[in-house]
Amino acid sequence: MRRKGFLIVLSGPSGAGKNSVMNAVFPTIPNLKYSVSVTTRPPRKGEVDGVDYFFRTEEEFDELIQQDKLLEYATFVGYRYGTPKDFVMEQIANGNTVIMDIDIQGASQIRQKMPEAVFVFLLPPTRAELEKRLTLRGSDAQGEIAKRLQKSWEELQHVVHYDYFIINDELSRAAEQLRNIILSESSKVSRIDLAELQSLWEGRG
Ligand code: 5GP
Repeated sequence: MRRKGFLIVLSGPSGAGKNSVMNAVFPTIPNLKYSVSVTTRPPRKGEVDGVDYFFRTEEEFDELIQQDKLLEYATFVGYRYGTPKDFVMEQIANGNTVIMDIDIQGASQIRQKMPEAVFVFLLPPTRAELEKRLTLRGSDAQGEIAKRLQKSWEELQHVVHYDYFIINDELSRAAEQLRNIILSESSKVSRIDLAELQSLWEGRG
C-alpha cells in the first residue's frame, strides 16, 4: 500500500560510516531515495558530480540560496553544503522515503521546518576508531582530519536532539538497525493515507 512519503535525516561525525551504512540499506528498500547535496568542497578521488554531490562554486551556491532552492544549508570546516529543496519535496509528495546525510546544523534547520521527519544519529564506537577510519580513508589531508576530529565531540553531544542512534561498530549490524528504523517508521499510522486504504479495502487498489 502507498504510504505518505517522509524524510530521514542521518547525521554523525565525518567518518562515522554514513555512506557505507546507507549503501547497505538501499538495495533492501525499493522506495528509498537519496538526496544528493550541493557543496563547494572539491571532489575527492572517485567522487562523481550529480551522484555523490553536486559540486558547485561559491557564486553558484549563493545563487541557489537567493533563488530559495535549498531546504537547508550550512558551513562545515570551511565548505558550504546544502540540500536541493525540489527533489526532496517531489519525492515525499510521490510517497517515497528520502534519506539525507547532513550535519547537525542542517538537521536543526530541518527540525524547525519539518518536525515530522525522522532523525537518526550514527556514531563511531570511539574517537580512536574514528581517527583510524579517517586516516585509512585517505581522502582528506592530515590537517583536514585533525579539524574533523576536533569537531567530533562537539557533534556527538547533539545526539540528544535525535530520535534514534546507531553505533557503527559492525557495518552489517548498523545497516540492519537503520533498515529496522525505516521499516518501523513507515508502518506508523500517521503515514497511512486513509483514501488509499479505503480503495484497497474496497478492492479498487
Ligand atoms: P564530507 O565533506 O565529509 O562529504 O561531509 C562533511 C559534512 O557535511 C558531513 O557531516 C555531512 O553530513 C555534511 N553534509 C553533507 N551534505 C550536507 C547538506 O546538504 N547539508 C548540510 N547541512 N550538511 C551536509
